Amino acid sequence: LFVTFEGGEGAGKSTQIRRLAEALRGRGYEVLLTREPGGSPGAEAVRHVLLSGAAEAFGTRMEAILFAAARNDHVEEVIRPALMSGKVVLCDRFMDSSRVYQGVTGNLESEFIEALQRAAVNGIVPDCTLILDLPARAGLERARRRGAAGDVSPDRFEKEELETHEKRREAFLDIAAREPNRCRVIDAMQTEEAIAAEIVEIIWQRLSH
Ligand code: C5P
Repeated sequence: LFVTFEGGEGAGKSTQIRRLAEALRGRGYEVLLTREPGGSPGAEAVRHVLLSGAAEAFGTRMEAILFAAARNDHVEEVIRPALMSGKVVLCDRFMDSSRVYQGVTGNLESEFIEALQRAAVNGIVPDCTLILDLPARAGLERARRRGAAGDVSPDRFEKEELETHEKRREAFLDIAAREPNRCRVIDAMQTEEAIAAEIVEIIWQRLSH
């Protein structure tokens, strides 16, 4: 089973993915917990470039291609082999993040993004995608509190930031509406416990089919 976690900043993806991994291991499943960008040595090298100052010289198209290159390496070197050996694979962000971040808020045509994703995933599409959904303002406030929102600037840019985050939220919800069999939207304003319980319930159902 291949499960991906998606959503905006401050939605609680990393906490919830860890909790699900623990719950699955507790029931005897072998779990591979991974994340993007990165997840394989080659993809981590690309991540390093994407998060470095060098990336400031990249256009959004180049950036999208690099994300796709890293994803393909991650899929072929790590995800596909793990799935083949019967592991449950949990991945923090995957192709839907590219559709939203590079596609929608990066203003790249969806044909271009979709073609890149097809090449990148090469047939390895998630069985289940959990979209942690919450209002942009709540997510930004949480991300800021934990000091992880390095890309969030205060004051003057706040309104623009909020609009961008709201646009991303809508884009994730659009994907969920278009692919209801694969995607489940989780209300990320619930307590951590309630979210974890909902996720476990969804995954048990998938595993029993
Ligand atoms: O929330 P998380 O730490 O997973 O996100 C890392 C950041 O990487 C995102 O906020 C986003 O700015 C960026 N990202 C991106 N395109 C992707 C995946 C991540 O721009 N496909």
